Amino acid sequence: MTGQRRILFIFSDTGGGHRSAVEAMIEALRQLRPDSLETHLLDFFTECTPFPLNRAGPLYGPWVNYAAWAWGLGWHVTDNPVMARLLSGFLDRIARPALSDRLKVLAPNLVVCDHPLAICAGLHATRAACPGIPFISVITDLGNPHLAWFYPPEVDCCIVPTGSAVERARRMGVPEEKLAIVGLPVSLQFGPNSRSRRQVRADLGLDPEGVTVLVVGGGEGMGRVYPMARAIARARLPVQIVIIAGRNRSLKNRLEEVGWEVPTRILGFVKNMPDWMRAADVIVTKAGPGTISEALIAGLPILLSGYVPGQEEGNVRLVVDGGAGYLTETPEALVATLRNLVENDDRRARLAEAARRLGRPDASLAIARIILDHLDR
Ligand code: UDP
Repeated sequence: MTGQRRILFIFSDTGGGHRSAVEAMIEALRQLRPDSLETHLLDFFTECTPFPLNRAGPLYGPWVNYAAWAWGLGWHVTDNPVMARLLSGFLDRIARPALSDRLKVLAPNLVVCDHPLAICAGLHATRAACPGIPFISVITDLGNPHLAWFYPPEVDCCIVPTGSAVERARRMGVPEEKLAIVGLPVSLQFGPNSRSRRQVRADLGLDPEGVTVLVVGGGEGMGRVYPMARAIARARLPVQIVIIAGRNRSLKNRLEEVGWEVPTRILGFVKNMPDWMRAADVIVTKAGPGTISEALIAGLPILLSGYVPGQEEGNVRLVVDGGAGYLTETPEALVATLRNLVENDDRRARLAEAARRLGRPDASLAIARIILDHLDR
């Protein structure tokens, strides 16, 4: 197939993971086919739904941060086939007209969707506005993706990251031949690199020799970033800390007001996460699927400071059962585990090795190949 081909990615900036996954797929597509692809991003909630749903992006972080129980309740109540269909159908009715209009204008040759609440509206709008083009869903939750990811099941291809996600897809009736277990799309920049950890640290202005703990909370600086970082510093562990607050400005301001007991670097949203992970010896994070997948590829021991109820529970199992890290939900547990890891190079190395075994560095290229295969049919 020759000529410029247009791919539309439907996602949403609820958290940072959906956009990161789209960017990783585009990066891989460009590597495989540098000149002949045009890519477009469409934020489902912002561009296709009315108020207050169009504010879902900015509201997601505070909601999950301050009312996690309510989020978890909503997740569990809707995570069954009947409710998943109702929820998806509701969003379909609300969003389909605007989405169809956008599709008619953009006239893509293929649509990829990586947001659970946009699959139903996305598929129906695509079938109506651009009949005959492929619609691919890319599931970016690792352990137990919500069932809404798999409704309706009539997508042309459903790309899932793990075996447990496959089980959920089957439960919703996605046909076997439409399923591809590939992994979660992660930027190729997280893969092997010629620069040593010491070199990367020096380039980032860190102490090249210092054991480095990276503390993050997804794209929105969610979870227990502040108390966890403070506990590490107060314990005066022999480490340097890098804290990435993401888009959470008030968290960054709070962190900057502190007199830190150990060398500490505080950052807002960074565009070079691969470098910061390469510089680190251990990562402390909420159980975000994107961050976990990246840390696994980077071979980082993972200390999970918490998880979004429902949505991220399966991610915890993946890390802990896979031997790549621990769930340390209290500052005391975190400090005790981290102290042990800092003092024990072998134990750190074992966790790092387990992380690498779980990592899927080729996932985004494999996904890009599937997309191109459907595009060329
Ligand atoms: N991220 C980033 N810069 C930041 C903070 C986070 O690029 O300053 C990226 C991170 O590398 C990951 C994504 O944002 O790709 C976060 O995704 P995750 O699924 O872990 O959590 P979410 O924010 O979606 O809840």
